[in-house]
Amino acid sequence: MDLYEYQARDLFAKHGVPVLDGAVADTAEQAREIAERFGGHVVVKAQVKVGGRGKAGGVKLASDPADAAEKAGQILGMDIKGHTVHRVLIAQSAEIAEEYYVSFLLDRSNRTFLAMASVEGGVEIEVVAATKPEALARIPISAIEGVDEAKAREIAQAAKFPAELIDPIAHVLVKLWEVFTTEDATLVEVNPLVKTKDGKVLALDGKVTLDDNAEFRQADHAALEDSASADPLEAKAKALNLNYVKLDGEVGIIGNGAGLVMSTLDVVAYAGEKHGVKPANFLDIGGGASAEVMANGLSVVLGDADVRSVFVNVFGGITACDAVADGIVAALKILGAEATKPLVVRLDGNNVVEGRRILTEAAHPLVTLVDTMDDAAAKAAELAAVGA
Ligand code: GDP
Ligand code: MN
Repeated sequence: MDLYEYQARDLFAKHGVPVLDGAVADTAEQAREIAERFGGHVVVKAQVKVGGRGKAGGVKLASDPADAAEKAGQILGMDIKGHTVHRVLIAQSAEIAEEYYVSFLLDRSNRTFLAMASVEGGVEIEVVAATKPEALARIPISAIEGVDEAKAREIAQAAKFPAELIDPIAHVLVKLWEVFTTEDATLVEVNPLVKTKDGKVLALDGKVTLDDNAEFRQADHAALEDSASADPLEAKAKALNLNYVKLDGEVGIIGNGAGLVMSTLDVVAYAGEKHGVKPANFLDIGGGASAEVMANGLSVVLGDADVRSVFVNVFGGITACDAVADGIVAALKILGAEATKPLVVRLDGNNVVEGRRILTEAAHPLVTLVDTMDDAAAKAAELAAVGA
């Protein structure tokens, strides 16, 4: 889960990372009140989960409360890279002398954690990494040893921070590492980390990604979820414990095993080119899918108004094809009138003959049985195009 800047800022404050006071507003009037509380000189910042807000006009300085209200009015409702701004962060503004970059992240390809730091912050770090890789220090972090003051100084020195800032920045790095580990984050990024004109080090922007797999031990994190902007089908799928991602096509997809579902998306995308249709979703119902799970999956996929046909692609393994076929038949019974769109089913693997027999005998009017994955994808694409 990616956090909004204001949520990242709250986590920073909780763990002692130096930040300036701030609060969120969803109207210009609220922005004025908050700015008044903070003495007038504030920065008004669009809260959207996308970078480059500054360049897009989503970060503006205000000199007094009336100005803050006006700037908030300009930013609220703005579209930044496809994200509508519903809230702004009103924070005390800093007098910036220098902008730096620091982050901790999970480096999957090297199976370790990584610290990155640069004195060339503020700008897009990808640009620094691409054009001046020597300006971005990368220090692997041992999961066992973590980041103590000594390691933090090593990072600050590698990034060539000015001598007088090594200690204060190292101190901030230790706190950021505390955020990273105790909150179970996979990314904690500060860009810019600034030196102010009076020599203080402050985190002026924050990007935090929390590890959803740690949900079970992070009870507080549920409250950070942005249920209002979540896709309602994705929310429903989540409540049903399904691995579902909404896409923008017309062919609903259900499969067992993430790899199979990924390749199903590929063959449907390919088959759909001819008909101008695309996969509508990713849905992996997992290995031991019961009739209930199949019914839940179908219910979510059929709940998508864009879906015009559904491709059920199952490879029988531990749960053999006959059990899956029974599951589909039972699921269609459970769904009753809710099942309204054609289903193309391809079964293969363990007990395939029995599985196909069960579906053939059930002779459900919505179900077409197709033997191969390519033919089934073509059929599902064709049906989606007809249903247009
Ligand atoms: P981003 O563009 O989405 O990364 O948003 P940031 O929060 O990083 O803000 C973009 C830029 O706005 C920063 O690099 C700063 O130059 C500037 N900025 C942000 N907050 C302040 C502030 O309090 N005072 C001043 N003077 N500039 C700020
Ligand atoms: Mn930034």
